[in-house]
Amino acid sequence: MASELRLEGVDFSYEDATPILEKIDLAVPAGQFVCLLGSSGSGKSTLLRLLAGLQFPRHGRLSWNGQPITGPSLDRGVVFQDYALFPWMSVVDNIAIAIGKAQPKARKAERREQAEACLVKVGLENAIGQYPFELSGGMRQRAAIARALALCSPVLLMDEPFGALDPTNRARLQDLLLEIWETEVPRKTIVFVTHDIDEALYLGDRIVVLGSTPGRLIADLPVGFPRHRERRALFDSAEFHALRESIAETLAADTLRQLVAA
Ligand code: ADP
Ligand code: MG
Repeated sequence: MASELRLEGVDFSYEDATPILEKIDLAVPAGQFVCLLGSSGSGKSTLLRLLAGLQFPRHGRLSWNGQPITGPSLDRGVVFQDYALFPWMSVVDNIAIAIGKAQPKARKAERREQAEACLVKVGLENAIGQYPFELSGGMRQRAAIARALALCSPVLLMDEPFGALDPTNRARLQDLLLEIWETEVPRKTIVFVTHDIDEALYLGDRIVVLGSTPGRLIADLPVGFPRHRERRALFDSAEFHALRESIAETLAADTLRQLVAA
């Protein structure tokens, strides 16, 4: 049985039956970092919610390592843009509660110790006892990442997790995510939604582009840049520019099709 996240012939529509996703076939090998690009409204978040087991397809199958996805699972951690930390709990308690879900037998002191270790990993050692409202947006997203890491899920589903951050914080969190992902053995399987081409090229092993109305996969490109990427050198390279241009053209052509169809 292949170790992979898989969608086969997935169709999805909401109650009004307008097709949102159509005939999506995608296999993501375990350990791959896939970035999902697409214009606004193309169905990226919907696709991620299907993978999370929060919504279900009209037709088709989704599976992880051959097991059908029938609901949320500790196998698949999620990080959304609007960090969902409990506002009435300190940061460390937010993480400890996630650990309690993953390891119900762990004692309280153990949970707290692990939660602190997760927070150190994301650079929040000075915010352990603080409440979410006391943190900046960047710090809250770090805490959301810490919580996802605390679950030790082999799959991480991320929906524009850095979309609301300023460019400096965004770059820092991209680097943090890569550092964590590159050092873990085995590596997590990541599906990362973004509409920022540079972010997708910097992070991903592969870029999948979702076209609009209805959402279909319109491009699937390997990103072969060697790992431990150096941001400046990569962004200056001719290969980066060529790939960037080709993806931008694909997205622009899709937007045009959407406008003509409207
Ligand atoms: P993206 O994340 O790519 O911007 P979404 O997956 O959020 O796209 O949305 C895809 C399409 O589904 C959009 O046309 C959106 O209006 C529609 N949609 C999203 N959520 C709902 C919902 N709860 N009910 C009906 N339509 C929805
Ligand atoms: Mg979205």
